[in-house]
Amino acid sequence: MTLTTSAPPTSVVGYDVDGSVAVLTIDNPPVNAGSAAVRAGLLSGLDRALSDTGVRAVVVIGAGANFVSGSDLREFDGPVPEPTLPTVIEAIEASPKPVVAALSGATLGGGLELALGCDARIAHPDTVVGLPEVTLGMIPGAGGTQRPLRILGPARTLEFATSGKRMPVRWAAECGLVDDIAVGPLRAAAVEFAASRAVKRVLQDLPVAADSSSADLEGAAVAVVAAGRGRPQYAAAVAAVVSGMALPARAALAFERSEFTRLRNGSEAAALRHLFFARRATTKANKPSLPREVDSIGVVGAGTMGAGIARAFVEAGRSVILVDRNPEAATGAVDRLRATYDAAVARGRMQRDDAESALLLLSAGRSVTALDGCDLVIEAVFEYMDVKKDLLRRLQRVVPSHATLATNTSYLDVDELATALDRPERLVGMHFFSPAHRAAVLEVVRGKQTSRASLDRALSAAAVLRKLPIVAGVCDGFVGNRIYNAYRRQCELMLEEGAVPAQVDRALVEFGFAMGPFAVSDMSGLDIAWRMRRSRDAVRDPAERYPDVADTLCEMGRFGQKTGAGWYRYPDGSRQPVDDSEVTRLVEQSSARKGIARRPFSDEDIVDRALLSMTNEAALLLAEGIADRPGDVDLMLTSAYGFPRHIGGLGPWVRGQDAADLDRRLADLAAVTGPGFVTADLGVFR
Ligand code: NAD
Repeated sequence: MTLTTSAPPTSVVGYDVDGSVAVLTIDNPPVNAGSAAVRAGLLSGLDRALSDTGVRAVVVIGAGANFVSGSDLREFDGPVPEPTLPTVIEAIEASPKPVVAALSGATLGGGLELALGCDARIAHPDTVVGLPEVTLGMIPGAGGTQRPLRILGPARTLEFATSGKRMPVRWAAECGLVDDIAVGPLRAAAVEFAASRAVKRVLQDLPVAADSSSADLEGAAVAVVAAGRGRPQYAAAVAAVVSGMALPARAALAFERSEFTRLRNGSEAAALRHLFFARRATTKANKPSLPREVDSIGVVGAGTMGAGIARAFVEAGRSVILVDRNPEAATGAVDRLRATYDAAVARGRMQRDDAESALLLLSAGRSVTALDGCDLVIEAVFEYMDVKKDLLRRLQRVVPSHATLATNTSYLDVDELATALDRPERLVGMHFFSPAHRAAVLEVVRGKQTSRASLDRALSAAAVLRKLPIVAGVCDGFVGNRIYNAYRRQCELMLEEGAVPAQVDRALVEFGFAMGPFAVSDMSGLDIAWRMRRSRDAVRDPAERYPDVADTLCEMGRFGQKTGAGWYRYPDGSRQPVDDSEVTRLVEQSSARKGIARRPFSDEDIVDRALLSMTNEAALLLAEGIADRPGDVDLMLTSAYGFPRHIGGLGPWVRGQDAADLDRRLADLAAVTGPGFVTADLGVFR
């Protein structure tokens, strides 16, 4: 018999009684995040169940798809409002009536900690569990490093709590984090479990489990700290796990909480929350207004980018026809992908079936006429206006009338390219980053005439590829490359004034960049930018400072890693840069030629000038309407340009500076950079 008593209408936790079991239903759309209201609702529901004499056990369940998807991060910028999650879990642990968590969907972070505070866990087969706190600059703060110790042992707890990964329910059931997987409707299974099988079992009262023979805590700790690249949350997670072994259970929980609070209040966690909210805003703003089909894709140009773009789509389950002016290049790209997959299968990194299904979706066409059935054709041919225009003219005669044409150009004017088409509104920029099958973002370039339908097609394609689309207007380099070029140019100007490449790279890597700008140039090749500079010689303002060492290197055939030398040397085909006194000599000669007195640079000067130049360029892009939101810039730089995530991008960096001082430094930068430098209002980042 079901006796239903409705909860007060404002509560986000419903209460009803099913036989001898009270069911607390958390209903906090859209994702069932844990919030102060949820926690208060759980406490009052539990109170009610305890005083309800007909009730012998309690079930906690989520109303929608998720149990609890994590904590509401909006609470994290100030003191966490009472009651806190540890308070709720203490009440559950103290309850004489057993409490069963019924898990479903995303059961993450605080959601999983809540579940582990219950006496048992039963889960829907679609459940995923995980502790993503480290990805937000923190450690779990409500037992996430402690209660799993009683089930997994120390080494596996540490790995689980620091991987940030979502694990499938089958894994959770095999290792014992979940007691049962529900067969049939979850609520009925959980109520049945609670009525017939639930007993009091407080995990935190159990002894720490022994590690399995293959796992050892020291090894796991070394690996975690190394993978965490010095970020403090990883060391804190190790300390929390160790304290769980060394301290009484309650004291270890208190230590974990204090570390959680310390990290949560720090600038790194705030920076990562900024990126989290920026991503959410961008994802929402860049949804297609009407999803467009992207079932059949054509890719023209089977070089580095075309092959990567084709791979990205087939791995997303879409059929791709790859065409190149040289048919062997297209078949060669298919053969190379087959060989890559064969190697991945041999190393156990890929299932043979997955490899075969992806390859079945990929074919090489002999000419563009093979693209007559495509919804979307992306060109990735040589970066020359005439070559691309000629191709677009031919493509428009072949593709179906509904199809969208996209260009992967890095720098060419998309509006000018569109003039090649009878219907210029069909063209959109889809600027992929390399490697195209892995990069997390896609820059979608909206030309002056790009139609909503074409933009929607590109945004739909980004959704298919699970890439974050960042929309940019047309300008030289769009959002990402324009900012990067301002940064790189500033770094080259610093060489003329007294720095050397290795010092600039080292300072920026120490600040947190994945690589320094000169090592990046060597990796991607100096010749492309050289060609681009030559194409602009005629339009460049002769009064502008023009750093010329990169040109000298190219004239010497030093194109970077691929020629064994660039800004550095790469002896015997190695990829490890070696300082080259020849480059220092070229740099010094350049200063002398220009009559610039070289001066010492501190690492701080270098980082400040590099970041200021990026920030100024980004503010100009925002003022020009080329970039839509400051958050887009931060997502772009942290996802595609190696900018340190723990700084959070330019917005958090600017907000960490004194405004008047920043303006003074910007004025200095304008003076030293000289003619052509346009000073932006950095207020947009405040
Ligand atoms: P690539 O030289 O590796 O490949 C270009 C391919 O296009 C070659 O196989 C060539 O045979 C083919 N091709 C040239 N003209 C053609 C035509 N008219 N019809 C059919 N095929 C033709 O070049 P890439 O590095 O892959 O770059 C391609 C495009 O992507 C460029 O516009 C480039 O600016 C852009 N891009 C490159 C990168 C990068 O990191 N390499 C990143 C983003 C964008």
